[in-house]
Amino acid sequence: MNNPRTSLIVLTGAIAFFAPALQAQRPPVFQAEVRQYVTVDSPTVALTHVRLIDGTGGPPRDDHTILVSDGRIQAVGATGMISIPSGAKVLDLTGHTVIPGIVGVHDHMFYSTPQMTMVQSPYASPRLYLASGVTTVRTTGSFSPYAELNLKGGIERGEVPGPRIHITAPYVISPGPDAHLDQIGMHKLTTEESARRMVRYWAEEGAEWIKGYTQLSRQIFAAVIDEAHKHGLKVTGHLCSISFSEAVRLGIDNIEHGFRTNSDYDRSKQQDLCPPTHFETLAKLDMNDPRIQETFRLMVERAVPMTTTAVNEQLAPGRPGPDPRTIDAMAPWIAEQELARRAQLDASTPTGEIYPHMREIYPRSQQYERAFVKAGGLLAAGVDPAFGALAGFGDQRNLELLVQAGFTVPEAIQIMTANGAKVLGVLADLGTVEVGKLADLVVIQGDLMANPGAIRQTTIVFKDGVGYDSAKLIASVKGQVGVR
Ligand SMILES: [Zn+2]
Repeated sequence: MNNPRTSLIVLTGAIAFFAPALQAQRPPVFQAEVRQYVTVDSPTVALTHVRLIDGTGGPPRDDHTILVSDGRIQAVGATGMISIPSGAKVLDLTGHTVIPGIVGVHDHMFYSTPQMTMVQSPYASPRLYLASGVTTVRTTGSFSPYAELNLKGGIERGEVPGPRIHITAPYVISPGPDAHLDQIGMHKLTTEESARRMVRYWAEEGAEWIKGYTQLSRQIFAAVIDEAHKHGLKVTGHLCSISFSEAVRLGIDNIEHGFRTNSDYDRSKQQDLCPPTHFETLAKLDMNDPRIQETFRLMVERAVPMTTTAVNEQLAPGRPGPDPRTIDAMAPWIAEQELARRAQLDASTPTGEIYPHMREIYPRSQQYERAFVKAGGLLAAGVDPAFGALAGFGDQRNLELLVQAGFTVPEAIQIMTANGAKVLGVLADLGTVEVGKLADLVVIQGDLMANPGAIRQTTIVFKDGVGYDSAKLIASVKGQVGVR
């Protein structure tokens, strides 16, 4: 490797910690477990005749060539205008679309089954992410942080195939009526001092993010945010007892899931409590209510991004069921449970659903995301793997959901790539197809502009300039989701 960025790390080793993307470049050797999925591993590779959607939100560019050398993008331009060095491996990708590696900012390494048990999945999850074109993830809440730290190490050492991982510490909550999730492994913080101690510990262990979950007091969460910022960590949340506006004022750095978790609009809300009428309020809210723009104004002013998650759709009745790939990846009994869950959800009354009123709330959450971006907000995307939304496949599904919400295909790709990279602070190296960036590229058979669903026909996924066989990775996971 001989480029200015590499020498920069050598010269400034002490600050390399603050540039996590640079840590995750390819290891010197891949173990057999990784090597079996590698289809392209030449020092110089030319992807020719592609339709390029580059992650900047700009229009697609036809018949382009992307030249990759030593894991970085060396040149991008019209085929014929880019000189290809002799000895380069040339791929003729006529009829294919190329997008940047997807950056999934709500991409757990566990799967929540239809019975709502959390299955840690160090085998299936990283393979599914990589196979689906997701080359960078943030774990966004953890029940097994050491499993995830070890997985990250295994991927970086070339022992396990998978994406770059930005580690999030165990979920934090504080005492209150909705705090029962401490029983499944969330960290219940009872004092400001315990909050600060927890953050310091995980900062040293390698976490980059802390995630708050629904039941939080402003006092405790303020201490979490303050201590996190002192140690260079950031904080996100699946909110409820604290509203979006309150969290933004406390200094939160990102907000998960969007509309269905915002308690800004419930007039019966009491401080530090999730209002019992939360879902009912959202189901009836006039989407022209001026308070919506007030939330957005505050988020834009303080530059707080929002994350959309593919799981949102899974909570709503009347949505399409899992595709055949999803069923194949699941253990047979998980597939059976999921189909039963969905049938029950579709037949349920508004209050009988796991999350009530989602039939009304889900389309509003799509409108909310579109309006947020129109107001100048930064929207990123992830999956939150649960039910029929699997690691990777759910990240791909976001493209169709964002297009349904009213975004163009290039805008939706930007949300899934560049915007995620911006949230994670790695846009200088990832998130778009531009000269100098790491060569994370997703090769898709077909025209994504004409058919967003073509994203399922991902054939090769490049991470650091190394191409992985998507179909082979998916085949290795058959029947494993919900198991390991
Ligand atoms: Zn989650």
